[in-house]
Amino acid sequence: MTDRNPDCPCTYPGCPRHGICRECIAYHRKMGEFTACMFSKEAERTWDRSFRKLAEDRKG
Ligand code: SF4
Repeated sequence: MTDRNPDCPCTYPGCPRHGICRECIAYHRKMGEFTACMFSKEAERTWDRSFRKLAEDRKG
């Protein structure tokens, strides 16, 4: 059984990787994306995990 991180901030419903950081990172990296925990709370809610969104989010 895999331990799940209870602090995972992702709000995307029904994801089988929720709280399984290793799988989450690998999944999004493969698609050139970033994980929920790298975004602000507001940006995370858009479910857009792209670099474009991350850059926009970090710029403020
Ligand atoms: S960031 Fe992606 S893979 Fe990770 S828990 Fe959220 S939807 Fe799942």
